[in-house]
Amino acid sequence: MVAKALSSIKEALPAGVELVAVSKFHPVDRLMEAYNAGQRIFAESRPQELAAKVPQMPSDVRWHFIGHLQTNKLKLVLPYVELVQSVDSLHLLEAINAWGMANNKVTDVLLELHLGAEETKQGFTAEEILTVVSRAGTAQLKNIRIRGLMGMATNTDDMEVVERDFERIERLFLELQAVNPQITELSIGMSGDWPVAVRHHATMVRIGTDIFGPREY
Ligand SMILES: *Cc1c(COP(=O)(O)O)cnc(C)c1O
Repeated sequence: MVAKALSSIKEALPAGVELVAVSKFHPVDRLMEAYNAGQRIFAESRPQELAAKVPQMPSDVRWHFIGHLQTNKLKLVLPYVELVQSVDSLHLLEAINAWGMANNKVTDVLLELHLGAEETKQGFTAEEILTVVSRAGTAQLKNIRIRGLMGMATNTDDMEVVERDFERIERLFLELQAVNPQITELSIGMSGDWPVAVRHHATMVRIGTDIFGPREY
């Protein structure tokens, strides 16, 4: 099941687009099915769940964090991940930097752009991201590497709305990339909208349901 889903998604993804398997709420034996089919990048959205799964999975798994991260949970996440995709405030960015200084680690991050209509959605505005990227460029945040942007489109079946959301983040991504060569990653697209995302410069798609089925707990 999992292996079949993975191979059909991989066939459809253009070369150079990374598949991030979103494994939140799925037990480790399902993750191992994906691992045994060759998948190496997994993403979790809750610190405790990530920290519990890491020691149960092979050591060459590349973990990403994609959920809201509170600054008092950094030690459950930062030692294990190669990328925090969901940095949604300057406060969090500074806390990750401070943790990195204390623990001698440089953390790769994506800045989450607030996309879509939902009031509750986390994230920076485009203006804030432009400011943060130019500040980080001045080397004030030495233990952070800002690698790009992450966004979630409006939760709707109206693909024109999704298209507009992805166009907005794509435009900002291209603008940032033109001035900062460290910005190389655009993480957009989930189950349901990833084919749209790959038409808008996605370099990573984050797919859960289309790989693992409905979440189990
Ligand atoms: C859960 C989640 C996904 C994956 O969602 P699916 O619809 O299951 O593919 C992608 N990105 C983020 C930030 C998520 O929280």
